[in-house]
Amino acid sequence: MTWLDALAEKAVDGEPPTREEALAVLSAGEDELMDVVAAAFRVRRHFFGRRVKLNYLVNVKSGLCPEDCHYCSQRLGSQAGVLTYTWLKTDQVVASAEAGVAGGARRVWRSRCASCARTPCR
Ligand code: SF4
Repeated sequence: MTWLDALAEKAVDGEPPTREEALAVLSAGEDELMDVVAAAFRVRRHFFGRRVKLNYLVNVKSGLCPEDCHYCSQRLGSQAGVLTYTWLKTDQVVASAEAGVAGGARRVWRSRCASCARTPCR
């Protein structure tokens, strides 16, 4: 049994990881990635089976942002080549949200971005 198997077994038994164990998972090397995924799936399957919850994001504006958050593909001057469009009209947002719900989404999120949720969009 690997340390990840033991950790997954512990989680299935309802015991949370220690700080050291959590840090070990976060520090796992690339060659351990699939073992981490397998251990996580074992825990997930135990508690949730194969069910998934579908959330759906309606991006009401894409690209063209006047801000310059360096990590963001939609930032001012971004060369990421993302789809760009200005504000969707209300009926377009509603139609997109309805399409998400019709597709099985349990939650629909209307957003520009997380930062914009904290600061007003321009
Ligand atoms: S405000 Fe939002 S959309 Fe604009 S650059 Fe920052 S993270 Fe990106």
